[in-house]
Amino acid sequence: MATQTDFEHRRRERRRRERLRKKRIRAAIILIVFIFVVIFALIFITKCNNKNNNTENTANEAVTLTTEPSIVPTVTAEPKKLDIPAATEENNLMNIIENSSAKKYCYLTFDDGPTENITPQILDTLRRYNVKATFFEIGSLIKTNPDMARRVYDEGHLIANHSDGHNYAKLYVSTDTFMNEVNSCYEQIKEVTGEAEPFKLVRFPGGSFKSSADSYSPVKQECKKAMAEYGFYQCDWNALNGDAEGKTKNAQELLEYCINSAEGQNNVVVLMHDAAAKQATADALASIIEYFMSEGYTFHRLDDIVYSPAAASPSATSSSSTGSGSGSATSSKSTASPSSSASPSGSPSSSPSASASATAPTQTTAPKSTGPIIIN
Ligand SMILES: [Zn+2]
Repeated sequence: MATQTDFEHRRRERRRRERLRKKRIRAAIILIVFIFVVIFALIFITKCNNKNNNTENTANEAVTLTTEPSIVPTVTAEPKKLDIPAATEENNLMNIIENSSAKKYCYLTFDDGPTENITPQILDTLRRYNVKATFFEIGSLIKTNPDMARRVYDEGHLIANHSDGHNYAKLYVSTDTFMNEVNSCYEQIKEVTGEAEPFKLVRFPGGSFKSSADSYSPVKQECKKAMAEYGFYQCDWNALNGDAEGKTKNAQELLEYCINSAEGQNNVVVLMHDAAAKQATADALASIIEYFMSEGYTFHRLDDIVYSPAAASPSATSSSSTGSGSGSATSSKSTASPSSSASPSGSPSSSPSASASATAPTQTTAPKSTGPIIIN
């Protein structure tokens, strides 16, 4: 009997110990799990903090480095506010530039692009000399070559407005047809640059100089007034390399033409073209840049103007200007450009403006002979 009792007792004792052992194991497991959970939670919280810090830093350094760095970061902050008269007062940028207090500013300008073959060569050369320029681009070409237009913008140059189609016969029917093309091109510039309000700057295809030889001149003078109302400036030129004047020239001849046209001028706005047929311009560009450098000029975009109201007396403005800044850009040197007017600018690439070219005033400036100049 006693044996039976002892046996029962031991058996209960064994079960009790077994339960106790299991209880301890469960407690140990729960403890281990708890510790792991705490560790993981700490790691997670630490990572979250780091991530937040990184995000804040990124936001401080560059607002939008998130998705497409090739496009977004180049939206160079806010467009620079130009301290010049409002377009409603004076929208002829040549008058403003010629009355600016800047010394020896050289504004290189390229019309009729962007093109696949010439524009990249121009850009390569500008980059080599760290020179910034202004490209008066045609809206329809921006649409067909958006990557090239974007490259122009990304490399720090100013894209300005050169109508949508560059077809004189369609463009200069009336102020309405003109403004429609200007606005259409402006929309293309907005889209490709990502800027909400790019600088409102137009160059008239063919130039805006008053000329009896230009049958579109009367409409152009009216267009200047319409542009002013919409806040657009317009800019002709007072020097040129002659790449759209008269006979086709080689690089050496373009350089000489350019030197002649710019001679004796303080601030120069140089007309050139990056249209598809202008290989000679691409070839001459380095030597043209070197010439102006050797003469002490610095290079600027057309939205970089040191304007001094004191220096700009109304009477000092272009001799031929009237009304809404209609003056030709010729004031200081009637020889250079004006004369010319309008180059049949690059119609080849842009549009069938053969008729336009035919009616465009012709360049009358005869290049003076200059000493031999070596082209690199
Ligand atoms: Zn043109």
